[in-house]
Amino acid sequence: MSLQIPITKTAASKISSIDFDNLHFGDVFADHMLVSDYKDGRWSLPQIVPYGNLTFAPSMRSLHYGQEIFEGMKAYKDAQGKAWLFRPEENARRLNVSAKRLAMPELPEEYFLEGLKALVRLDIGWIPSKENTSLYIRPFMFASEESIRASEAKEYKFIIFCCPVGAYYSNPVSVKIADYYSRASDGGIGFTKAAGNYAGQFYPTKLAEEEGFQQIIWTDSGKHEYLEEAGTMNLFFRINDTLITAPTGTRILDGVTRKSLIALAKDQGISVEERFLTVQELIAAHENQTLKEIFGSGTAAVVSFVKEFGYKGRRFPLADMGHGGYAALLKKQLTDIQYNRAEDKFGWRCAI
Ligand SMILES: *Cc1c(COP(=O)(O)O)cnc(C)c1O
Repeated sequence: MSLQIPITKTAASKISSIDFDNLHFGDVFADHMLVSDYKDGRWSLPQIVPYGNLTFAPSMRSLHYGQEIFEGMKAYKDAQGKAWLFRPEENARRLNVSAKRLAMPELPEEYFLEGLKALVRLDIGWIPSKENTSLYIRPFMFASEESIRASEAKEYKFIIFCCPVGAYYSNPVSVKIADYYSRASDGGIGFTKAAGNYAGQFYPTKLAEEEGFQQIIWTDSGKHEYLEEAGTMNLFFRINDTLITAPTGTRILDGVTRKSLIALAKDQGISVEERFLTVQELIAAHENQTLKEIFGSGTAAVVSFVKEFGYKGRRFPLADMGHGGYAALLKKQLTDIQYNRAEDKFGWRCAI
């Protein structure tokens, strides 16, 4: 059943010039990339070629109307040097959820999955091996047609490239609860990984940074009453011993980390509620000291601890739960599965 993916290898590997002990996020790229083109109503068999620049027309449609979607995932090396993916079928499926909403053609899932495995197998030497490092994988799709007609394109490109990344530890963050700007609205594209969702956040995030915050907690665009998610992460609030996270729908992204943490929490008897928490409930829980933890979840950092939130000029600090919190516990359990340090009873790991 497996696809025969044509490979053109690079004549000049960059791997020996990379300092694998000092990797930052997202500015070093592995030797190869996977490419497939959509034309005349079908996707071409993906091919692997050297990572390199593309040429395109200035009138390429994605540059004008923003038809661009992406995914984010990782490959991990275990202590024996064996490589693993984590729930890659979820990313293949979600890419097509985004594609459908942006009027883009769905990519056959085996092109995504088989192409990805062939690419990572070829560039396996690019997966760093130090503890908690990984190979970040960026699949994306964009309208490549030469035309500025304001409607969906007829030609697209799908590409996957990879970046080795260091152990991503994010320091506990201060977050600002949005009371004016918004990220997503009902019936909109908030649930997709569309490039434009990110572009719209940079300006309000820059303003929040000027006030000393690192991220924004988005609220509903109507009344700014309900807590939604951070820009690149889903959010969990622990009140007493219950974890609360916003339900997915048209505003919230269906994060793979989010759903994995929910499954892990439920599996050990932690109560999880998928419902909207209001800003007023959050502040009340902070005042009566039942608010124990807030954390974000996403592929890049797995879990980001929140040390403080701000709302309309007031600041609300949170006590550091250290290793005793749910965030630390769930983070350890999830990364132990990803790095093949623990049993994988859910069947999430995928050998490459
Ligand atoms: C990608 C993303 C997340 C996290 O999703 P994961 O699948 O867990 O990486 C959360 N929110 C938004 C808006 C995102 O784009």
